Amino acid sequence: MIKYDTFYMQCPRCDSWLEGHLVKSEMVNKSILYSDGKTLNDNYITEPQKIIQCPACSHWFWVESYTEPYVTYEKPEVPYYNWNHWRFFGVHFNSVEGRLALVEHYKQYLQAIGNDRDKELYIRRLMWWAYNDLVRNNYQMHLDYLFSGKMSFNVWRKNRRKQKLGRRIFMKNHAEYIENLKALLLLVKGRYTPDDEEYEASILEIIEIYREMGKYDEAQKILNTIPRRTHYIAHIESEVKKRHDFVFLVVG
Ligand SMILES: [Zn+2]
Repeated sequence: MIKYDTFYMQCPRCDSWLEGHLVKSEMVNKSILYSDGKTLNDNYITEPQKIIQCPACSHWFWVESYTEPYVTYEKPEVPYYNWNHWRFFGVHFNSVEGRLALVEHYKQYLQAIGNDRDKELYIRRLMWWAYNDLVRNNYQMHLDYLFSGKMSFNVWRKNRRKQKLGRRIFMKNHAEYIENLKALLLLVKGRYTPDDEEYEASILEIIEIYREMGKYDEAQKILNTIPRRTHYIAHIESEVKKRHDFVFLVVG
C-alpha cells in the first residue's frame, strides 16, 4: 500500500522539477514524540519543510504549504529531482556530520530572512530540533536498550559510538545552542493568549525551553500553574526535578 501522496513543484528560478512526498496521516503505524515537540510518523518528521533549496541551482525558496497551485500531483514529463535531493537540503541526515550541516543551513537562512518573526520562529524551532538530533537518541546507548533486543550487539556498539560523537559535538556547540533557545523563547513568549488554539502547546514549549536551558526554577514555576498532569507533563516535571536538561523520548 502506498503511504504517501507524491507531489511535484518547480524551482522558481531555474524551473527544475522536484518530487516530494507527504505521508498520509491515516496510514501511519507508529508515532514518536520527543520532549521538544519533534514528532515522527513512521520515521518521517511531521513538520513540513518550508524552506526548499533547489538541487540544480542552489536557489532557496519558501513554501508555506504544499497545496495547489504551488504544487501539482501530476507527474511532469521531464526528469525531476527526487525527494532525497532536496529533503533536509540534501544533507546526509543519519550521520553526525549531516546533522551539524543541517544546523549550518538554518544559521544561513536565519541571516537571510530579515525581520520576519514568523519565519524566524520556524527556523529557530527547527534549528533547536537539529541540535537536539545530535543527542536525541542517546537513550539507545544504555545497556537496557541492548537487552531490549531492538539492536544486535554489533549494531548497538556502532550506534553507541555515533551517539557519543553526537554528544561531544552537541556539548562543543552548547553556547550557540543556548543562544538559539534564548531567541526562541522571546519569540514564543507572549505570542498567544489563552483564547488561542496554540496557547496550551506554547506553554509546554516554554517549559521545555526553560528546562533545556537549565532554568529549572522557571520551568517549575510554570508547571505549578498547570492543574492537569498528562503523561507528557508529568514526565517533563520529573526531568525538571532531576535537573536534567537533555531532550528525551516521550512516546515511541
Ligand atoms: Zn533551481
